[in-house]
Amino acid sequence: MRYFSTRNKNESAGFAGAALAGLAPDGGLFVPEEIPRYRAAVKNALGDMDFCDIAFETIRLYTGDEIPGAALEDIVHSAYPFGAPLLGVGGRLVLELFHGPTAAFKDFGARFMARAFAYLRRGEEKPLRILVATSGDTGGAVADGFFEVPGIFVTVLYPRGRVTPLQERQIAGLGGNISALAVEGSFDDCQRLVKAALADEGLKKETALSSANSINISRLIPQAVYYAAAAGRAFAGRADADGEATPRVKGFAGTVKDTRLGLRKGEAAVFCVPSGNFGNLTAGLYAMKMGAPVKQFIAATNINKTVPDYLASGEYTVRASRATISNAMDVGAPSNFERMAAHFSWEEMKRIILGVSVSDNETKETIARVRREAGYFLDPHSAVGWKGTDKLFAENKIAAGPVGILSTAHPAKFSETVKPLAGSAPVPAALERAMERTVNAQTIPAETGALLDAIRRL
Ligand SMILES: *Cc1c(COP(=O)(O)O)cnc(C)c1O
Repeated sequence: MRYFSTRNKNESAGFAGAALAGLAPDGGLFVPEEIPRYRAAVKNALGDMDFCDIAFETIRLYTGDEIPGAALEDIVHSAYPFGAPLLGVGGRLVLELFHGPTAAFKDFGARFMARAFAYLRRGEEKPLRILVATSGDTGGAVADGFFEVPGIFVTVLYPRGRVTPLQERQIAGLGGNISALAVEGSFDDCQRLVKAALADEGLKKETALSSANSINISRLIPQAVYYAAAAGRAFAGRADADGEATPRVKGFAGTVKDTRLGLRKGEAAVFCVPSGNFGNLTAGLYAMKMGAPVKQFIAATNINKTVPDYLASGEYTVRASRATISNAMDVGAPSNFERMAAHFSWEEMKRIILGVSVSDNETKETIARVRREAGYFLDPHSAVGWKGTDKLFAENKIAAGPVGILSTAHPAKFSETVKPLAGSAPVPAALERAMERTVNAQTIPAETGALLDAIRRL
């Protein structure tokens, strides 16, 4: 498979080149020359295959012979000892993506990426430095994924004071080959600094550099896997039994009777994706194009609604991000939009994606209501998805049928918000361990020079 820059068709690379570089040399994002399709045998079996087998069948279409089958088998089995349960909750479907070590969906991308990098760089002596900007969850997932991978150093930039105490410990508490920079600015500033450093000719001569944001194609591709798996199961008319870590109130006897957004065998699913940088939604578009039974997407954002506004008006206007209680989605200039626009025109996007924006008050009301009515704890990001689905359904913009709301983080990860509204969700063991770590980060101003100096001193 060849990958092209979104800015220039003549700038191309193989999977290894695109993954290890992160950004194309002209500043564009790498996209596959065409989105591959599942073989019929795989497509028809998605509802029955186990998660690692779907991961193997999905990713191999993008990695080709650059990662041989046996190596890819090892990578997916080591990356995904956990899956992505599709559960019936309050008469609709929730796709739980928080069963990995940092309790957010970013573990799916980061864990594959770390293992792929280790494989692609086998035998390489020069160390690699990975720069990653985070609004909260990416940093922890990438830090955890790469922790103690030999020959690779990770530097995480996060907006100081805008991540939760737990996220800060996940980002800045590991030490070893992971370092953390608290930037005096917003997530957009962090992202801008990373892009500037990756493009800095001087720094590039001194160190091998890469990025681990969702602009990296190796993080995006594995995210298509859970869409294919969930769509396959929904199409087969099956949800999963409760996963152990599922944050449900014990013994709750639900009263919800409305199942209009639940399972319907033989129907393609709609997925509602709580979105910020739009990496997750882009991966969903790939899964759909690959042949997974998906009908449509809902792009649910908080008040940072650059993409819903674009879908409505056809005009793309980047804005400064505003802080909300769903902080991992506080993005005013979504980096993956460039990728979406490379594959789809506005007319096509409008047909496939319904945009909706949800306020903090609506989010809070939803967390309390879903706990009360369905006995289920939602984190603030997933609550944006739930409420966004409610709004579109009430406006008759989606028909009855299977709607899978992506639950992008475990509610215990955002207990500061969730607890006063819904009480305490059961805490996964991995989060309990992370809370015990000590934060070790250096603060820098939101200036490229300051970042370059900090990197040189690390
Ligand atoms: C990163 C993140 C999002 C947004 O995902 P994008 O791929 O950036 O759109 C939503 N929810 C949570 C919990 C996240 O960590």
